[in-house]
Amino acid sequence: MIRINENYRKLQSSYLFSDIAKRVAAFQQANPDKKIIRLGIGDVTRALPKACIKALHAATDEMARDSSFRGYGPEQGYDFLREAIAQHDFQARGANVQADEVFVSDGAKCDTGNIQELFSLDCKVAVPDPVYPVYVDTNVMAGRAGDWNKATGRYDGLVYLDGNQANGFIPALPTQPVDLIYLCFPNNPTGSTATKAQLQQWVDYARANQALILFDAAYEAFITDPALPHSIYEVEGAREVAIEFRSFSKTAGFTGTRCAYTIVPKECVAYTASGEAVPLHALWNRRHTTKFNGVSYPIQRAAAAVFSPAGQAQVKELIGYYLNNAKYIREKMTALGYACIGGENSPYIWIDGKTDSWAFFDKLLNAAAVVCTPGAGFGKCGEGYIRISAFNSFENVQEAMTRIGAIL
Ligand code: PLP
Repeated sequence: MIRINENYRKLQSSYLFSDIAKRVAAFQQANPDKKIIRLGIGDVTRALPKACIKALHAATDEMARDSSFRGYGPEQGYDFLREAIAQHDFQARGANVQADEVFVSDGAKCDTGNIQELFSLDCKVAVPDPVYPVYVDTNVMAGRAGDWNKATGRYDGLVYLDGNQANGFIPALPTQPVDLIYLCFPNNPTGSTATKAQLQQWVDYARANQALILFDAAYEAFITDPALPHSIYEVEGAREVAIEFRSFSKTAGFTGTRCAYTIVPKECVAYTASGEAVPLHALWNRRHTTKFNGVSYPIQRAAAAVFSPAGQAQVKELIGYYLNNAKYIREKMTALGYACIGGENSPYIWIDGKTDSWAFFDKLLNAAAVVCTPGAGFGKCGEGYIRISAFNSFENVQEAMTRIGAIL
């Protein structure tokens, strides 16, 4: 008898985006003439940088000639891209990352979801709350999260790292032992960022407890404050205890194009039951080469073009555009008397709605025809908050804020 992985039945259905879609559709049906402005979903809205498009075209033309055609490439990514990443994204900032520690993939979602395969099912996993749901659900699927507890609204087997206004949505170190720690800075959904000193505390904790940090830096490109670290490897001792995830999705508008990468330093280890240290680089290499056949050549060429002088200038402009939207939203919401986090080194503004998340969502939708994301969808600590995303045109952002200003 073929049996299912019953852990899948422990997953809590995520009604968040389908609920949003239903409410938006109902509103549009009742108000066919109203222009809805969507500041909910975290998807980019502007075109790919011209340098990337040019590289994509050129690489496609290469594929059209027998003499330059390429079939399967290295699963870990082509050297031209791995070298550009190591040099521009890490070495240029004083972080020691070598090209052969870069694993190119089709998404940080897949990588942050797949990485847990390397670890024992007995591991104690710590996740932030509010949280990017992939970290939780992939551990539920694997059987590491235990049962869903209706009374607490959480999984019994996970350790939740609470974010709140008091700690600025930078969770404190856990008070019970944990083995695997997910961190995300700049954070989705809260937009909070961590200083070097704050990351150092986590690295020191991981070193002292033989734990491992999974550091999701998908929004790294939005950091403009020169004092903030872009990579966990800017922190002393991180190479032994941290894996970092990056993506071209938000950096360069690759959400539909798909290219990302994961850094697994050679020193980074996890342990066998008897305490033997095993390098994770070899394990991830084995996993990646067994289950993944590489990102397509034209897409890797397009990604590498991000690091060309033209690409760098275009990406800077792109990020600057969204950051300008974010600043505008944050200023307007603050002026209306709402406490905000994020929006400065992040495309997300996390707003204390001073009421139930969904009630605030409904108010913005029904009275202003603006779509946001209710914070409760990201975990218990998100209740009472909403997330507004800066991914839209400045004109739409301006209009949305004018409408919100009129009803709040
Ligand atoms: N990590 C975080 C925190 C995200 O918010 C997202 C996308 O929204 C991702 C990873 C996924 O990135 P990718 O498009 O590379 O799969």
